[in-house]
Amino acid sequence: MKKRLNHTESLSTIGQLAASIAHEIRNPMTSLKGFTQLLQQTTNEDGKRYLAVINEEIKRMEEILTEFLEVSKPTNNEFEYIELKELLLEVVNFMAPQALLKNIEVSTSLQTECTCKVLGDRNLIKQVFMNSIKNAIEAMPKGGNIYITVSCTEKKDVCIEIRDQGQGIEAAQLDKIFDPFFTTKSGGTGLGLSHSSQVIKSHGGTIEVESKVEVGTSFKFILPLQK
Ligand code: ADP
Ligand code: MG
Repeated sequence: MKKRLNHTESLSTIGQLAASIAHEIRNPMTSLKGFTQLLQQTTNEDGKRYLAVINEEIKRMEEILTEFLEVSKPTNNEFEYIELKELLLEVVNFMAPQALLKNIEVSTSLQTECTCKVLGDRNLIKQVFMNSIKNAIEAMPKGGNIYITVSCTEKKDVCIEIRDQGQGIEAAQLDKIFDPFFTTKSGGTGLGLSHSSQVIKSHGGTIEVESKVEVGTSFKFILPLQK
């Protein structure tokens, strides 16, 4: 099953508003946490169980807020020339040890004859690949391989493929994976791919996904090459 992403609106005024609301919600949540701790000391056994549930839910809200604030963080919007292969190696060196702990090996195949320079926001592009590798790791609870390939297509674009041997994505869900808050994970936020799609769009690129349930998934990030 293959899908080409129809990019949606970028994080604009609404996104910025949401980010400031997320920020505002944090303070009352800290106070809620404080009071549940106080209640713990005065309540009976039933009450303690209910409070444990409340605490878990508060923790979950905090995780969502943290990730949301992370992805909506304003960047300086300064585009620079990025040597993609170098940046990918940095990302892989950072992620490979975490993968190895889960019995996952990350291998890279970086086309040598091309320099693969793109114009972009270094941190944002880095986040896109880190998120994608993180998703690949999470899709392989029993371990496996992640293959990262960089290739220049017709000397016009550069394609970075991140392929895993994970659980795959059902056809019916392929349409939804880029929606904010769409997640199939119990601890997921569903913000990674929606952020990635905005980043790639703002860099003039596209994302393609191909997936087969129980076989694996391939994400292709296609960005315009700079000469
Ligand atoms: P999260 O990781 O918090 O769930 P994402 O936006 O990163 O949010 O991903 C959204 C959903 O897309 C995931 O919950 C999962 O269902 C699906 N997905 C993304 N990448 C992969 C992958 N490599 N393999 C299988 N499913 C994936
Ligand atoms: Mg994710």
